[in-house]
Amino acid sequence: MQGGGTPRPGAARPATAEPALRVILRRLREIMGEPGDGQSRLDRIVNQIAVLMVAEVSSIYVQRQDGSLELFATEGLRQPSVHQVHFKKGEGLVGRCAELAEPVNEPDAQNHPAFSYRPETGEEIYSSMLAVPILRAGQVLGVLTVQNRTRREYSDEDVEVLLTTAMVLAEHFSTGAVEGIAAPSEPRSAIGAVLSAQKLSEGLALGHIVLHQPRVVVRELLAEDPNEEAARLDAAMATLIGAIDRMLLRGDMARAGEHREVLESYRMFARDRGWLRRMKDAILAGLTAEAAVEKVQNKARATMMRQGDPFWRERVRDLDDLSDRLMRILAGQAGTAASLEALPEDAIVLARAMGAAELLDYDRSRLRGLIVEEASPQSHVAIVAKALGIAAVGQVRGVMERAEPGDEVVVDADTGEVHIRPSSDLILAYSEKARFRAARQEKYRALRDKPAVSRDGVPFSISINAGLLMDVDHLAQTNADGIGLFRTELQFMVSETFPRLDRQTKMYQAVMDGAGGKPVVFRALDIGGDKTLPYLRQPNEENPAIGWRAIRMALDRPGLFRTQVRALMRAASGRPLHLLIPMVSTVEEIDRLQMMIERERTLLMERGGTPPERLYVGAMIEVPSLLHDMDRLAQRVDFMSVGSNDLMQYLFAADRTNEKVAGRYDNLAVPALRVLRDIRRAADRLGVPVALCGEMAGHPVEAMALAGIGYRSISMSAAAVGPVKAMLMSLDVGRLEGVLASWLDEGGRAPGDMRAALVGFANDHGVSL
Ligand code: PEP
Ligand code: MG
Repeated sequence: MQGGGTPRPGAARPATAEPALRVILRRLREIMGEPGDGQSRLDRIVNQIAVLMVAEVSSIYVQRQDGSLELFATEGLRQPSVHQVHFKKGEGLVGRCAELAEPVNEPDAQNHPAFSYRPETGEEIYSSMLAVPILRAGQVLGVLTVQNRTRREYSDEDVEVLLTTAMVLAEHFSTGAVEGIAAPSEPRSAIGAVLSAQKLSEGLALGHIVLHQPRVVVRELLAEDPNEEAARLDAAMATLIGAIDRMLLRGDMARAGEHREVLESYRMFARDRGWLRRMKDAILAGLTAEAAVEKVQNKARATMMRQGDPFWRERVRDLDDLSDRLMRILAGQAGTAASLEALPEDAIVLARAMGAAELLDYDRSRLRGLIVEEASPQSHVAIVAKALGIAAVGQVRGVMERAEPGDEVVVDADTGEVHIRPSSDLILAYSEKARFRAARQEKYRALRDKPAVSRDGVPFSISINAGLLMDVDHLAQTNADGIGLFRTELQFMVSETFPRLDRQTKMYQAVMDGAGGKPVVFRALDIGGDKTLPYLRQPNEENPAIGWRAIRMALDRPGLFRTQVRALMRAASGRPLHLLIPMVSTVEEIDRLQMMIERERTLLMERGGTPPERLYVGAMIEVPSLLHDMDRLAQRVDFMSVGSNDLMQYLFAADRTNEKVAGRYDNLAVPALRVLRDIRRAADRLGVPVALCGEMAGHPVEAMALAGIGYRSISMSAAAVGPVKAMLMSLDVGRLEGVLASWLDEGGRAPGDMRAALVGFANDHGVSL
């Protein structure tokens, strides 16, 4: 610990070399065993914390029902202010700590904008403050602080010691030992709540809350015998590793896939000596095995909060999951994860954080929706939720505190809302909406075997976009013509370690086998920008969307690209192979990549391998510079695919990941449609097949416009196939082409609102949107 403060009289650092945590825990245990009432114990506790942390002040604030924080005990602040000083919800640094539920470490607290000065405490003489939340089962019970006169940046060890002390305090509060402190689990209000959320996977779900792996509440924190606790931890660890090994041997896990990869990385983590060592250290300091697991987990989570880096976020999330599993084993509750219990028919799983593997553990037929408090659209669990086709939302602040198992809930991923315990009117309205959607889905399913031909006889090719092995099943479900875009980076994104040659080969082989002879367009790794790989360090860039990404990375790091091409060629072995190059900006890039591809083909043959029956190389049209070099591009590629998501962001200079600007420009506006039409015309003139695989192909109005400017081949998410096919089958393409020409041609009269005009056309001509 760092002793920056002027020691209080009698507050000298203990002379022994015994670790501070151990000393504090020993003292706490003694105090808990001493006679006296709850208040006097708290007084002794703050006194000891101040002494042992070489702080002039130590205080305990308790959270009241209205969310305010009351000063409950202090060493160093003026005693008459105890029970008199209250901070409103979120007020001051103490309120901020409770609101964020994370440590606040301020060397210059007085000058912090959130600082709220209370003259009655006499705290004007203290500069620095460290505040940590007193948490129990995810609920904030209060705040524990230390303060020093001098500017002192509290060390990580200080934070850790205070957090662990807060853990013990939380336990003490929950026993009801301190008068005036209510039991933490106050009955929740029956009145519902509406929380805003971020869409992870589209859809609407009504059902009942199932808590994902209800947290084990650690009851015993302080242990008598460290050796016994260490032995318990070792045994639990062995059980954990054994359980993961057995899961890997399960029949459904034999096939290479996302689930298997995640479990393999869990196995690696579980064997990590550092993790075990940190938990053993905590046991040596006097904690029980359970408390040691929780302490190391809390520390990792606190570290994560400070990291913006997705690499660390994913690492810590895995560790969190493993810690929960370990905790359940220690508590004798192994196997009680919600996924293994009988699920209700309409389960909406609620988790604080969740990994891809855990979601895959659930019985899909009973799973309606998913709410993950901390997940972002780029997280692995979001990618898997999309592949499973369940409504899912993330970034839902406070949902864990508000929802109870069994609560009725509505997840509306499309509007980004979660309704907890909704009123009966709301349930009725949503049930109606859900029924309507289900009926529509039924209608779309009936179209499965009908050819995608427009009302006036124009045939269309509809393919699906995919990225995970499990997506391949959608090909049979939709009866689409093929996979028009296989985003290979998704498998890299859900994998914890870099998939090497053999693993990649197996994955691609499984995808091709699963597609049963239908074409699969594999897109070379498109990472960078918003797509990050947990194990690949990428530089922090000012403008990642126009930074070092996709093929730019492949050109600088040929090993990455060449391994992927090698794996794809091996997987194809005698079958046709379609390889799509993302983010091409110049034709010279294609030349360089073609050379690498050629070298791989030669190498494969020299080694006696079978090359693909035919290799088709295509370019994504998503960087505007290519639009002015189409003839030279056409000489170099076998097909083109328009990536309208990126093309629009570059065309309108509007970051697709920035909500403030992403929806600002309509991709049905005149310039957008003219650009898309020019691409299609150039491709036709040059005799190169062109498809469009951006999100717009999956929206019926947009898909209708695409048909009207000449696109005949489109690729979309599997869920969009039905609605788009229904639209095409009801459309008179020839008539729309005429109308669009009159709007878009030079000298034409484009309506002010193209989208509204297109919807008007659909309504007037019976097009099913
Ligand atoms: C696109 O940019 O339109 C596209 C299909 O690729 P992605 O969304 O993966 O960037
Ligand atoms: Mg793109």
